[in-house]
Amino acid sequence: MVAPKARTPLSADALFHLVRGGFAHIPDPRDEDVDISLTDTLMSAFAMFSLKAPSLLAFDKERAAGHLRTIYGIQHVPCDTYRRERLDPVSPKVLRPVFTSVFRQLQRGKALEAMTFLDSHYLLALDGTAYFSSKTLPCASCLHKVHRNGSCTYDHQMLGAAIVHPDQRAVMPLMPEPIVKQEGTDKNDCERNAAKRFVAKLRREHPHLQFIITEDSLSSNAPHIETLHAYGLHSILGVKAGDHAAVFEQVQGAEHTGRVTYYERHDRAAGVVHRFRFVNDIPLNASHAEVRVNFIEYWEISQDKVQHCSWVPDLRVTKRHVFHLMRGGRARWKIENETFNTLKNQGYNFEHNYGHGVQHLSVMFAMLMMLAFLVDQTQQLCCAWFRAVWTKLGSKRLLWERMRALFYDYALMSMRQLCEALLYGVQQSSPLVMIDST
Ligand SMILES: [Zn+2]
Repeated sequence: MVAPKARTPLSADALFHLVRGGFAHIPDPRDEDVDISLTDTLMSAFAMFSLKAPSLLAFDKERAAGHLRTIYGIQHVPCDTYRRERLDPVSPKVLRPVFTSVFRQLQRGKALEAMTFLDSHYLLALDGTAYFSSKTLPCASCLHKVHRNGSCTYDHQMLGAAIVHPDQRAVMPLMPEPIVKQEGTDKNDCERNAAKRFVAKLRREHPHLQFIITEDSLSSNAPHIETLHAYGLHSILGVKAGDHAAVFEQVQGAEHTGRVTYYERHDRAAGVVHRFRFVNDIPLNASHAEVRVNFIEYWEISQDKVQHCSWVPDLRVTKRHVFHLMRGGRARWKIENETFNTLKNQGYNFEHNYGHGVQHLSVMFAMLMMLAFLVDQTQQLCCAWFRAVWTKLGSKRLLWERMRALFYDYALMSMRQLCEALLYGVQQSSPLVMIDST
């Protein structure tokens, strides 16, 4: 067997080192002497998500075993209680430079070239999701929902963001924007405000990158489209006849004046017909006539079903581009399916309560989980070893399970060695038993 080539600076080992280095720059809010450094505390939470520990208890129990020191560089592993206590007062925004350093490494390693879409753009899918809900005591970041009977629900949401590509299963998450109660106000935060904060930060961090933002139909409103334009971001946003009646009326009108273009493409191998109609430069609605959009309506017709979608891209639609724009619009589902659903169902336990805290703990854990997911997705995109083991084992769940077993049972020095062991197998030796020969 020939060992697959691995891109070293993007290997799990190199990225763990980079993440740890980033954590080491975060100032510790505690002034007094501490038993365990904040770096070790952050790294141990990261390792918990990286190893997909089935529960806090399981991770805690085995913290003395395994190779948290050799592989994750953790000098002292805190217990669960200590970890919660230390992380709760730390503001999640300190993790932003760590996400950025991993992103820069991806750029330097040319890993993102595989994700470019329509010339040199990145397709960035945004979507909100809730991951924690409680009826008991809220923390300082909780959103409050008061019910008719006077009871209250407290929950945590985030605006997730990931670079997606129609041909790639891997997604590259950016640091999510927490949807949390903002300081100095009693009002709840919302997805739209979070999106405003997110794009401002995105532009500040990546002033020269070209993005096409793709979102569902809730985002197709004039203020949001204006915000995206103000930050020089392109977009492919969903629209629905029920919610955007004005757009569909405009298209109807354009049809009467012959401005609508029809286009069809046959994929005989797949037995599918792609049917389009599109029109450029129509107002989004009467009250915002100055906000002009282009419109694509699409039908995917196969033998037994018809799928129907529509979008308002800000990029001009032509027969040459309409197929690509449709694929970009449809790739949006990867933020739900390949991102949130993977985090919920593929071993990360996104909705599990790792600790609520009174200030930031719940948000901190969600961000650290996303950071571990980013490192895993980099392996999925770039590491031939990882992909070979995944193919061999057939599922991510089994992959994490086997990885964890080797991590705890064998004296391995790196993730690379762990992957090799998973791919080629390990030499099983019989246990040594002392025999009394007298
Ligand atoms: Zn909370």
